[in-house]
Amino acid sequence: MMVQPHKKAKALKASSRRPAKELCSECGLCDTYYVHYVKEACAFINQQVAPLEVQTHGRSRNLEDPDDLYFGVHQSMTAARKTEPIEGAQWTGIVSSIAIEMLNRGLVEGVVCVQNTAEDRFQPMPIIARTPAEILAARVNKPTLSPNLSVLEQIEQSGLKRLLVIGVGCQIQALRSVEKQLGLEKLYVLGTPCVDNVTRAGLQKFLDTTSRSPETVVYYEFMQDFKVHFKHEDGSTETVPFFGLKTNQLKDVFAPSCMSCFDYVNSLADLVVGYMGAPFGWQWIVVRNETGQAMLDLVQNQLETQPVSSQGDRKNAVQQSIPAYDKAVTLPMWAAKLMGVFIEKIGPKGLEYARFSIDSHFARNYLYVKRNYPDKLEAHVPEYAKRIVGQYKLPD
Ligand code: FAD
Ligand code: SF4
Repeated sequence: MMVQPHKKAKALKASSRRPAKELCSECGLCDTYYVHYVKEACAFINQQVAPLEVQTHGRSRNLEDPDDLYFGVHQSMTAARKTEPIEGAQWTGIVSSIAIEMLNRGLVEGVVCVQNTAEDRFQPMPIIARTPAEILAARVNKPTLSPNLSVLEQIEQSGLKRLLVIGVGCQIQALRSVEKQLGLEKLYVLGTPCVDNVTRAGLQKFLDTTSRSPETVVYYEFMQDFKVHFKHEDGSTETVPFFGLKTNQLKDVFAPSCMSCFDYVNSLADLVVGYMGAPFGWQWIVVRNETGQAMLDLVQNQLETQPVSSQGDRKNAVQQSIPAYDKAVTLPMWAAKLMGVFIEKIGPKGLEYARFSIDSHFARNYLYVKRNYPDKLEAHVPEYAKRIVGQYKLPD
């Protein structure tokens, strides 16, 4: 019997350097013998969103279609929330609910998801869940880089043939790249958008500089009302306006991988569940292909839905935020609150808020790559991101 080439490869020890070096997002691929494919698969070594879109969805995004340009290949977008939210989920628990239905109905035998360690609620611990209870124990974001793909070797060892993987864009690009080597009959991918992720140490710095009580934070989210919402152990909520963040101290907190990422919307998942294109309190659902639609259908009877909408004009706000971020301007709290109220009243909403967030992050990341990795700029930035950034005047 011929041994597949990757089986001769050895996972890189955690201590050894990843081939992507400081740009590594710790996706976990290099912890497995699939490291054999790293030069091709790693999102930070070989950006290949367009060909993988063709492989996954049958076509790459149409750059002339404004929604495709921003949100990737899709069949539909909706806003939804669970009529009975899952207690302790990040939003209303649509992700966990889909995973549980897929397992209960026998569509999959296992679900790759991320629990936390017993000692630290924010330390990610990827697993292949085999029961609804294990999926539920993975609910809520671990807002740190997570080596989800480190469990890939276990798939073959355990003989799994039908699998659901939940993950963020960089993990999913590497996964799609090695998908054919996994020996699966069917792979389902449930993605979330992702931006501004941090190492565990970076997370601590963010909590310490931003929250009134860092040690009791159980959850946080940058929300559509231009505020960071922290939830504490005692159930209380704390909000801090984006414009009041201590930008000068936080400038280096985001991982270099996330400062050079252009796959905010998880282009290669079958189905994406986030929040940024939906009204406040609702989740944003992007169905990319037939597989994604079949996954969403499983929970339709648990959901309340409404069409996505778009309001406001982001362009000026984005243009003004580019030099402000570059110079790490931090407003005094009273001014930040005032600015927050103003922006919330007249600012971009729904899909326009999502475009605002994509534009601001792509502009920042484009400058970061241009300044720190000029040789990578041309190949690493996808064509759609170049077009989006090209709408703005950037500093040198
Ligand atoms: P839940 O039912 O609570 O399930 C959450 C799922 O996320 C779990 O299955 C778990 O396995 C998985 N997960 C947790 N941590 C990680 C991790 N570090 N890496 C990979 N998977 C993980 N949405 C936006 O619209 N805009 C954003 O900018 C944005 N940033 C995000 C950043 C991160 C790091 C993550 C993990 C998610 C982000 N999301 C973002 C998605 C959003 O916060 C919610 O996760 C999503 O809407 C699902 O909510 P839920 O209640 O259905 O999830
Ligand atoms: Fe390896 Fe993933 Fe790091 Fe790339 S991002 S070097 S594939 S662990």
